Amino acid sequence: MLKIAKNAKVKIDYTLKSDAGDVIDSSQDKEPLAFLQGNGQIIPGLEQALEGREAGDNFSVTVNPDQGYGEYDKELVFDVPREQLQNLDSIEEGMQVQAQMQDGSTQILTIQNVGEEQVTLDANHPLAGETLHFDIEVADVSEATDDEIEHGHAH
Ligand code: ZN
Repeated sequence: MLKIAKNAKVKIDYTLKSDAGDVIDSSQDKEPLAFLQGNGQIIPGLEQALEGREAGDNFSVTVNPDQGYGEYDKELVFDVPREQLQNLDSIEEGMQVQAQMQDGSTQILTIQNVGEEQVTLDANHPLAGETLHFDIEVADVSEATDDEIEHGHAH
């Protein structure tokens, strides 16, 4: 059977739990997650844990923040004047907004605090600083097409 290695096309079913045991995300009600191994499409800790596995494998893995979504960085919390967000329908604490960066990429910002004049935004990934607990089932491993390898993602 094909083992997971760089550029293998992989489908996994997963349940992601926080340290407290709460389910954060699961593929249960969706399609399995499809990606090309070794292309940075999933967090490094999960890629490492999947290397060498094959379809039908079941396992659990704990991923520390440095192999997950990074440590929580206080430097990524900043204030902007409220009028900068006036194109939003509403501004509420805990809300996530997508911001267009200068290099054209998009980033998710979480509204941390809403003041009279200033809004505090947090650019950390929502799961930064979290130790992640995954239950994984490898649903499928196949050869990627040349196109998929060139694009660096599964079609
Ligand atoms: Zn493509």
